[in-house]
Amino acid sequence: MPNSSIPSTRQQVAVIALGGTIAMRAVDPHSGAVPDDSLTPLLEDAAFSGVTFTRLHDLPSCEIGFDHLLELARVIEDRFREGCPGIVVTTGTDTLEEVAFALELLVRRSGPVIVTGAMRYANAIGADGPVNLLSAIIAAREPALTGAGVLVCMNEELYPARYTRKTATHGHGFQSVPVGPVARVIEGRILVQAELPPLPLFPIAHAAFVHKAALICAAFDDDGAAYEHLLHRPVPGLVVEALGGGHVSGAVRDVLEKLAQSIPVVIASRTGYGPTLSASYGYRGGDIDLRRIGTIGAGLFDARKARVALTIMLTAGCGHEEIAAFFAP
Ligand code: ASP
Repeated sequence: MPNSSIPSTRQQVAVIALGGTIAMRAVDPHSGAVPDDSLTPLLEDAAFSGVTFTRLHDLPSCEIGFDHLLELARVIEDRFREGCPGIVVTTGTDTLEEVAFALELLVRRSGPVIVTGAMRYANAIGADGPVNLLSAIIAAREPALTGAGVLVCMNEELYPARYTRKTATHGHGFQSVPVGPVARVIEGRILVQAELPPLPLFPIAHAAFVHKAALICAAFDDDGAAYEHLLHRPVPGLVVEALGGGHVSGAVRDVLEKLAQSIPVVIASRTGYGPTLSASYGYRGGDIDLRRIGTIGAGLFDARKARVALTIMLTAGCGHEEIAAFFAP
């Protein structure tokens, strides 16, 4: 595991790298971008003075898992204990939203925690890594953001981790809904625009994640076959990315009814905007019916965030009531 660091002093912001495009470079025009130590020379530039750097991993997003986040959470808490004023995590944008949201639920924070990445690799024309990293460091130094929850910094905007999504495959790839940027970086300073209530913390004592929830997307003309195998090969929890306000076909509903007797089943909406409904439709598989059979509405959390939260709560030992209370809008 690569691990290079610039010597630390007490008041320096800590930059901790997991990997992603921000730490990738194309060796030649044909073979595409691959992991590379491009952050070390960048951070040696005078513009980035006053930071320590830890290259914890150099993984693409698709290889980052919950156990890496447990390791990262411990490193971040150690840095805060050492007196670090704020933390920047750099990671791949494909799963940046899961990384940031998991840190929000896992890490005891005594300063800002800012997660950033890049849409264009280090030697691409118009590489966005430098401005994103510099903006993230400025945010990590801002004491006013200490209680703001974990924030995602892209394009000089700071999004709340709980609502951040990668919404484009290229270019300006990030948004947060329903709450937009809570702060911006303007002329090297932070302008705070909104505050959100804090989310609960679920510290994990285990060395690894033992309960990973499954995630299935509801489909048009869904016969429930994708869910049936879960009756024979149980999972500790299930998130369904359901239709509309949180609805599934009658066939899916019948499998969910059986599953909900033994595991938490969380229903999120695939629409991308608005809370799951709970008092609108009484047909089989409608929101009222799904609550009646014991499923939990994900509220404003999308399915990816719901799976992160459910996995963390299951591993932290939370029961059905605590899980339902977390998702209650
Ligand atoms: N595929 C890359 C990754 O997520 C994209 C990025 O980092 O922006 O690792």
